[in-house]
Amino acid sequence: MRKSRIIAGAGLGLSALLALTACNSGSPTDPGASAGAGGGEEALWEVASDVQLEGSPTFDRATEAGEIVIGVKSDQPGLGYEDPVTQERTGFDVDIARWIAASLGFGEDQIEFKTIPSANREQEIINGGVDYYVGTYSMTEARDEVIDFAGPYFITGQGLLVAADDDSINGPEDLEGKVTCSVTGSTPLQRIREEYSGEVTERQTYSECVEQLKAGQVDAITTDEAILAGYVALEPNELKLAGEPFSEERYGVGLADGDTALKDHINALFTDGNDVWTALYEQYLEPAGVVAEQPQVD
Ligand code: GLU
Repeated sequence: MRKSRIIAGAGLGLSALLALTACNSGSPTDPGASAGAGGGEEALWEVASDVQLEGSPTFDRATEAGEIVIGVKSDQPGLGYEDPVTQERTGFDVDIARWIAASLGFGEDQIEFKTIPSANREQEIINGGVDYYVGTYSMTEARDEVIDFAGPYFITGQGLLVAADDDSINGPEDLEGKVTCSVTGSTPLQRIREEYSGEVTERQTYSECVEQLKAGQVDAITTDEAILAGYVALEPNELKLAGEPFSEERYGVGLADGDTALKDHINALFTDGNDVWTALYEQYLEPAGVVAEQPQVD
């Protein structure tokens, strides 16, 4: 059963999104700053002290190093975004990542964020290049064979993004004779190739696909609606969602295969943290028209 839904067209203007980002500009060293502490509001979480996590190689490594390395996205507004000027990272996924870090005892100045594209996620986790990954990462059986997932913490579905004045595409069946852009190593790319007709071109990031769509080089972009809604929110006069979601994408936190202690810790945090989840959802996703509830973890 689908648990999330996006209302197409309920976009948020650029100025509103910028205003949102502006409320979110606490000092990077404040615990929970990105979630409101910087503006003098109450922090959504505190950095835990004296954390004990028996049997987690990831936690042991990070504790030894005094720093935790987190893989994220940087070009997905509302989810995982890095401001090109200020380098400030914002978004639902990025704050979920900060919240997990704080629960493990790591404050903002002990986090190293690494931007990792979809195609490289499993390998980075396997290589130990990141301690965990939070970036629109669907929990799939194939991925689960080589890494572990905590969650799900969010559910969305595959959708289509088209030019605002294009009425010829209203679902994946309409892609025949069209060119669709998606991202290497993503589940939407695989699904559109295997189950629908039409030409498909792939890029490393969704923002590259958006540039191609705006330049008229492709007719559509396909990926999760939660991601696409973030682009629509920035440019509602140029872009729109088309049709209904046609898959279920359950977002998990990617971590090293077999690190059950870390997985259980994160799942317990999600289960007990509905207030944090709701605050982050209301801050980052609801304004872009993304409708969702917190799912239960597996
Ligand atoms: N959720 C999908 C996936 O994990 C698409 C989004 C992405 O590429 O991050 O493949």
